[in-house]
Amino acid sequence: MTLLSDEDPRAVEIYNPIEVCKATDAVPGLLLCEHAGQEIPLSLKSLGLSSDSLDTHIAYDIGAENTAKNIARALSVMLIIQRYSRLVIDCNRPPEAADSIPEISHGTSIPGNRQLSDIEKQQRVEEIFNPLDHTINEHFANNSVRWAFSIHSFTPELNGKQRPWDLGLLFRNDTSTAISMAEYASVNYPLINIGLNQPYEIEDQSDWFIPQHAEKHRIANCLIEIRNDHIRTVSGQQKWAAIVADLIRHSVGNASMPDI
Ligand SMILES: [Zn+2]
Repeated sequence: MTLLSDEDPRAVEIYNPIEVCKATDAVPGLLLCEHAGQEIPLSLKSLGLSSDSLDTHIAYDIGAENTAKNIARALSVMLIIQRYSRLVIDCNRPPEAADSIPEISHGTSIPGNRQLSDIEKQQRVEEIFNPLDHTINEHFANNSVRWAFSIHSFTPELNGKQRPWDLGLLFRNDTSTAISMAEYASVNYPLINIGLNQPYEIEDQSDWFIPQHAEKHRIANCLIEIRNDHIRTVSGQQKWAAIVADLIRHSVGNASMPDI
């Protein structure tokens, strides 16, 4: 018995495959969108949640997928997308983290995640987390990758606290990429409020791609959080993708290997 059936979509989607990017002779990089998807495997029966709950930020990063696709097109770079909701398993957390398969997310109880057996948890790792992780590993093994950015969105208010930033640049070992983006933005987009390591910080316990892939390969990297009320519409997604693509282009255009 598997978690996914033939009727479920594949866990991973590749947008702008590398063959297309090579044809354009782009600087070799990689984009990730781990929280793009809202899919729930049919066998999990919507995790017992209403479609209203599955439409909120607890299930996915609102607007992130289309924004990331626009950035990928602007930069001619490959984008790896996770199709399943982070409520099924969060693909930007170590699978052993306590909140990798959350029983409660931001105050909402997730009935379909309660009292899972080890086998049920393992299925989610093997059929949803691992395909994404393997795709990333394969990409690094077969290509020269000089930089990588992970595209996310955040909710403007959480637990009664306002989050005033338009963009969050999250970084750890590679400080030069994010700082270079922030400095460029302060001159060219002075009205944008950029939070450095806001609204989150990169931690081994709560992140996966940056610690386990980008930092291990010692490439220029940053996790970009865009406030989700900016990217709810197609025009917002296009506008912010153009800005983020410009910041990325600037930072990777003059950065070679970060000093980490
Ligand atoms: Zn996210």
